[in-house]
Amino acid sequence: MHRPIVTWGDAPWLAPPFLTTSEPPHHQSAIIVGAGLTGLSTAYHLAQRGMDVAVIDAAAIGNGASGRTGGLALEDTAAGVRDGVEDCLPFLGRLVSDVGIACDLRLRGCRELAHVTAHPHGTWAWREDGSYLVRQGMVPGGTVDPCALLQGLAHAAVAAGATIHEHQAVTTLEPGAPNRLQVSGRVVTAEYVVLALNAYTPTVHPIPCAVRAALTFALCTAPLSDTTIDELGLADGRPFYTADTPYLWGRTLADGRLVLGAGLTFDPDNDPCRIAVDQGDAAQALARLEARVRRFHPRLARVEITHRWGGPVAFRADAEPLIAHHPETERMILTGAYAGHGVALSVRIGALVAAAIADGQALPPWGALAIGSTPAGKHADAT
Ligand SMILES: Cc1cc2nc3c(=O)[nH]c(=O)nc-3n(C[C@H](O)[C@H](O)[C@H](O)COP(=O)(O)OP(=O)(O)OC[C@H]3O[C@@H](n4cnc5c(N)ncnc54)[C@H](O)[C@@H]3O)c2cc1C
Repeated sequence: MHRPIVTWGDAPWLAPPFLTTSEPPHHQSAIIVGAGLTGLSTAYHLAQRGMDVAVIDAAAIGNGASGRTGGLALEDTAAGVRDGVEDCLPFLGRLVSDVGIACDLRLRGCRELAHVTAHPHGTWAWREDGSYLVRQGMVPGGTVDPCALLQGLAHAAVAAGATIHEHQAVTTLEPGAPNRLQVSGRVVTAEYVVLALNAYTPTVHPIPCAVRAALTFALCTAPLSDTTIDELGLADGRPFYTADTPYLWGRTLADGRLVLGAGLTFDPDNDPCRIAVDQGDAAQALARLEARVRRFHPRLARVEITHRWGGPVAFRADAEPLIAHHPETERMILTGAYAGHGVALSVRIGALVAAAIADGQALPPWGALAIGSTPAGKHADAT
């Protein structure tokens, strides 16, 4: 049985409940399962084309990865540049501007860091055990307030005619014409179904799509002074991630708080809801992250940490994202497995899914089920 109530801790921007707990209609042209960034973007783009669409989520909007993400907006995919999603950042920028979403989107670049053994005199460096973390280059990217983006997309989808139904768990799915879903004990049918479930996909519909789910971790400090931010080398406000291991990503918030993340914990049954951040391997991973952070720089040694949390993340082989028709029907589409690189990509993928349903546009071949059929890959080891 699905358990949406999980012990993952709170992110600083965890979304409040949005609109409804009402039951979805008995029949709908399109049902989107999952109210994260992918599902809400799909719903908005479908509703804009005049299709009747309902979004169903087992919990509240953003309760999965989207409300717990770090909010680094990155270009392309974790697997590299892929046709059709090489414009995620300008696409997100246009959408936010056209719809008028106040989500503090700043696309001024993202720093890539790397570990080196020799001290880089005169340049920015954090300590990491026997090495130093230094800047290597800049890639397209930036930051966004993910909660505000979720709320903005949800309002835009509803304004365009979609309905959103929170706290309605899909328990079974039967692909067909129409597709049949059990939603909190009721049967609901739809011509088209989009599974925007990301790391929850294996628990809801275990087709052989080789999605491997994990929990990944982050923490947030109390606000730091301008002097401290400057000494940490973060005064330009640009986010960063390591291009090597041990992996780390980070960003500052407008009020001087610092958010940092890393680490992965897997469940043997591929169910992220069975992992609690305060127990076992996950608790240790979070403690390791905190200990790392305190050693990076003397200014972080005794910093107050206000939030510690985890969130679900999903992988396929070589971090290839999933955007594919169900093997039994073209009228069911699966998405997800963005490998921690899904903020801008999920919004772009929602638009591609809507174009496939409403305009008959082909889905990108790299997202097919047969590709990425061996779980894990290098990104799954990036702890
Ligand atoms: C801690 C963390 C940090 C991250 N940092 C970054 C980052 O900085 N940059 C970046 O690009 N990416 C990052 N990511 C990845 C990014 O957040 C995700 O790829 C993206 O949010 C996925 O969105 P989604 O809508 O596909 O899935 P989700 O947001 O996970 O949505 C899935 C939804 O399905 C719902 N659901 C589950 N089961 C059912 C059911 N039975 N019935 C109905 N609904 C159900 C869930 O409640 C959930 O709301 C991070 C992820 C995590 C966890």
